[in-house]
Amino acid sequence: MRPHASKAEIEHVRERIQELGFRVHSIEGDERVVIGVVGVGANVESCLEQLEATPGVERAVRISAPYKFVSKEFRKEKTVIRAGKAEIGGDEFITMAGPCSVESEKQIMDTAEAVAAAGATILRGGAFKPRTSPYDFQGMEGEGLKLLAKARAATGLAIITEVMSDKDVGLVAEYADIMQIGARNMQNFALLKALGTCGRPVMLKRGLSATIKEWLMSAEYIVAHGNPDVILCERGIRTFETATRNTCDITAVPVLDELSHLPVVLDPSHATGKRSLVPALARAGVAIGADGLIMEVHPHPEKAISDGAQSLTLDQFSALMKELKPYVALWKAARVVELAPA
Ligand code: PEP
Ligand code: MN
Repeated sequence: MRPHASKAEIEHVRERIQELGFRVHSIEGDERVVIGVVGVGANVESCLEQLEATPGVERAVRISAPYKFVSKEFRKEKTVIRAGKAEIGGDEFITMAGPCSVESEKQIMDTAEAVAAAGATILRGGAFKPRTSPYDFQGMEGEGLKLLAKARAATGLAIITEVMSDKDVGLVAEYADIMQIGARNMQNFALLKALGTCGRPVMLKRGLSATIKEWLMSAEYIVAHGNPDVILCERGIRTFETATRNTCDITAVPVLDELSHLPVVLDPSHATGKRSLVPALARAGVAIGADGLIMEVHPHPEKAISDGAQSLTLDQFSALMKELKPYVALWKAARVVELAPA
């Protein structure tokens, strides 16, 4: 619909869609209502023409991809997502960093201060942890969320933290600036639906064996249920290779750029499982045009309760951020050209 189309116009269009034999699926933004038309019809072209001529309608387009709202056909311009002072998908390269798990006040505060000083703008840290073994540490839960809020207050960093269950969405949304959905939950549809109304941006990690299409369909769940602010995160997939924890599908970044308008972040920590490989993959992420990186950092990786082997020390993280500077400068030059009006 046109920006500020009237309620009567919107209602009229909904009625017309139903008369034409289709289902209505709308998402309401601040300024504009987008009405999704779902169904199979014989005279799609003429329906589109009729709808386009209806008062209040700006454009009627056919979207052939199975994922509609997240597709490039639906929107050409990149989605820009705000979290604290950070803008993901815009003309700044974004770095999220922090421990795998929140373990103690000292651990999270020391990490937050160090990553902020090194130039990160978003602090990561799991309070609810999806662990392969039920006997492993499951996270500090509510206490962990409070510690993250404390770290935000002290440093100004925005917080990204994982939510594992639809039942915890309300609680986590009280503390998080970005809700992280872990690889193991990429197709937890009850959770994806609940995120539609959580009021926070969501970072959706790619499932361990998910195709790009399945991943975009999961993103579509969140948007179709009312939340357009989704960030995708490539964190490696399961292959026959055992030299690395996962196999990073680096090509997923430009593939997604062709298919979708959603921002894409790369996770070199989970993709490799090995600290020594993180800097090379981080550079690759910048070079290939990801919108940002998410990396695990710990003051004492050897003592970390989870994912110590892939966590950088505070000094290593700071050195990596310096090392990335020239790459980020090139990234920025390319992005500014891309964003410039034609
Ligand atoms: C994490 O970010 O610590 C995590 C559990 O990641 P993933 O869901 O990608 O395995
Ligand atoms: Mn981890």
